[in-house]
Amino acid sequence: MASPALLMRVVASAYSVAEKAATIVRNVMAAGDLGIVEKTGANDLQTKADRLVQMSICASLARKFPKVTIIGEEELPADEVSEELIEDGHCEEILKKTCPAQYTGIKEEELVIWVDPLDGTKEYTEGLLDHVTVLIGIAYGGKAIAGVINQPYYNYEAGAGAVLGRTIWGVLGIGAFGFQLTEAPAGKHIIVTTRSHSSTLVNDCISALNPDSVIRVGGAGNKIIQLIEGKASAYVFASPGCKKWDTCAPEAILHAVGGKITDIRGNSFQYNKEVKHMNSAGVLATLRNYDYYASRIPDTVKQSLVP
Ligand code: AMP
Ligand code: MG
Ligand code: MG
Repeated sequence: MASPALLMRVVASAYSVAEKAATIVRNVMAAGDLGIVEKTGANDLQTKADRLVQMSICASLARKFPKVTIIGEEELPADEVSEELIEDGHCEEILKKTCPAQYTGIKEEELVIWVDPLDGTKEYTEGLLDHVTVLIGIAYGGKAIAGVINQPYYNYEAGAGAVLGRTIWGVLGIGAFGFQLTEAPAGKHIIVTTRSHSSTLVNDCISALNPDSVIRVGGAGNKIIQLIEGKASAYVFASPGCKKWDTCAPEAILHAVGGKITDIRGNSFQYNKEVKHMNSAGVLATLRNYDYYASRIPDTVKQSLVP
């Protein structure tokens, strides 16, 4: 049999790399010293887990795929990465899937990998552990085409015996796996949004949508999980703050199951390596009924957010 397409090998490796990342996230918390650093302020934090996981993911993928562009959230010194942080494995199940025809010819130089080593850092430091995800998004031609989301503390409140953590992955044209796709309750408008980065505009936008309920949780990865598991009908964030590494993996997985994510004005995100990191015009995402929510975002909100 011919060797699997590059894209499938990258996703299969990213799967194992994300599982290693989850172990690091749990180990840092268990050891108790988070080593918190404020980046732009008290609501923009970095911990030892963010640093170690980024080193682990970027060095592991760069070793296997040296010509791929890898962009990670954290600015770190270009130190030698310790061998114990390197993950060499891959997921066999993913290699068994057929690569969609339009992606079989992709070369390493054409891929951009967006890495959020720990999404939901604020919540991690506050012990809201199931909000945390590790995000590895894979882009080609400016589009998010594949992604891995690991949730290191999935099931952590389910008690002893429950398997802790899970890995969700997806590729456009194949689908998404590692969770049970579930529709949100029909006829209800349940909005999921930020818990630690609210503003008047964020809240005014949600009020204008006249929701039945609002779920405030941390993490872009976690909020996309709320959509694909039917807990919420729309992710609405009318604010700058979210970056390309927050949306790339979630976007690929959401789109792989027929959902849609854009900025608040309806523009799709671009993920080529030259792109601006900030999603300045916020986020609007749904599994179903995107047009319903998009048509109800007030013009005043759209005008306040410049892409
Ligand atoms: P949240 O929904 O608040 O958890 O935000 C989703 C992602 O966007 C997380 O990675 C946050 O760190 C990031 N983010 C959103 N708003 C801001 C902000 N005002 N400053 C820094 N990061 C932000
Ligand atoms: Mg993040
Ligand atoms: Mg992060």
